[in-house]
Amino acid sequence: MRFSGLRVLREGLTGNKGWKAHWRDPAPKPEYDIVIIGGGGHGLATAYYLAREHGLRNIAVLEKGYLGGGNIGRNTTIVRANYGLPGNSEFYSHSLKLWEGLEQDLNFNVMHSQRGVINLFHSDGQRDAYARRGNAMLNQGDDAILLDRGGVRKMLPYLDFDNGRFPVRGGLYHPRGGTARHDAVAWGYARGADMRGVDLIQNCEVTGIEVKNGAVTGVQTSRGAIRAKKVGIVVAGRSSQVAAMAGMRLPIESHVLQAFVTEGLKPVIDTVVTFGMGHFYISQSDKGGLVFGGDIDMYASYAARGNLPAVEHVMEAGMALMPMIGKARVLRSWGGIMDMSPDGSPIIDKTGIEGLYLNCGWCYGGFKAVPGSGHCFAHLMATGRPHEAAAGFRLDRFRTGFGIMDEEGTGAQHNLH
Ligand SMILES: Cc1cc2nc3c(=O)[nH]c(=O)nc-3n(C[C@H](O)[C@H](O)[C@H](O)COP(=O)(O)OP(=O)(O)OC[C@H]3O[C@@H](n4cnc5c(N)ncnc54)[C@H](O)[C@@H]3O)c2cc1C
Repeated sequence: MRFSGLRVLREGLTGNKGWKAHWRDPAPKPEYDIVIIGGGGHGLATAYYLAREHGLRNIAVLEKGYLGGGNIGRNTTIVRANYGLPGNSEFYSHSLKLWEGLEQDLNFNVMHSQRGVINLFHSDGQRDAYARRGNAMLNQGDDAILLDRGGVRKMLPYLDFDNGRFPVRGGLYHPRGGTARHDAVAWGYARGADMRGVDLIQNCEVTGIEVKNGAVTGVQTSRGAIRAKKVGIVVAGRSSQVAAMAGMRLPIESHVLQAFVTEGLKPVIDTVVTFGMGHFYISQSDKGGLVFGGDIDMYASYAARGNLPAVEHVMEAGMALMPMIGKARVLRSWGGIMDMSPDGSPIIDKTGIEGLYLNCGWCYGGFKAVPGSGHCFAHLMATGRPHEAAAGFRLDRFRTGFGIMDEEGTGAQHNLH
């Protein structure tokens, strides 16, 4: 089923009777060439690119709940390529380029909106750090503009520029950054994978990973055993638990991250803004809700909801930056489970078990990574070689100490990245 303007017109005139379900609901087969555990953004994108780029068809995505019910449907939808360190820079640049052609590629409206991202700075030292980051972005071939206070004021006149503690001195503007509709990304990839023959199996929890003579042979699930030559673990906040089924202990901690949305308002914030002196960032959805969030709750947890101290911190930071936000009423808040790595950068790698592959460690920045991650993980699983854009995301860097990508400079502490 292809989407087009003509199709919408025809369906509109004929009672909308021709639309079909976006994907099938197949029963699991006893055996696949490749099994992907996890039907979030990364798992679905991996299956899509395995089929589209590598011509592989005998693939299943096993999802314990429903497609898009995890972090892919819970995030605050920011897409950007503004990283500073080699390893991350080329990967997120690669991912942003895939975003830019994604809707045409998937024939699906994911509402990708390049409305720009502005990271505010509040001191001379922070300005220098952002100038360095901007130069790294330009060197990578991405876009960055260092704005002074006047430049920011023109774009964001509603900020409290003269806040006594955190005056706004300027910002690093990334025009190609922006947002996309999170669950539409999951649906678009799901539909694209299904169209190419991938079985998307919902309500199918993986409960065990079978390993014989050092090689993976399949998985146990709530819907029976499934044999597979290759298995990819792509389960975000549940990575440690699923990897433990194969006897692996991962350098990952799971933490909760919360987000908030207000009632729908008239257009007021037309870009993404991040506060430089506390963890707070905000954008406005196409429905009008102000979508904002902050830092993780700072304790390890598998609960997809958080606590009041983190809520208070986010609200205080929002009020310090843009007091007008105090007039908006918060409609909902929710949480997701983050797979925090020690250096804040991800892992896309083989494991010590033949045929078992790992994709995790996205912390709270894995939405923008979805196209790049799926593309690079599919390349690794299909060819056995890392994609050049993701060659740095090795699992052994935490054992050897070589190739650590600590963007925040906070050291090996999961909750500080
Ligand atoms: C509040 C919040 C805000 C965020 N904001 C941003 C942002 O603005 N920009 C950004 O880039 N990133 C953001 N993120 C991070 C981003 O959402 C995640 O990094 C990313 O979605 C994780 O990858 P995923 O989509 O594959 O995860 P998920 O959607 O969580 O997919 C993993 C899937 O695995 C399934 N699973 C787990 N265990 C099993 C099992 N045993 N068997 C079968 N299936 C299993 C789960 O049910 C789940 O559906 C945010 C996250 C949250 C929670």
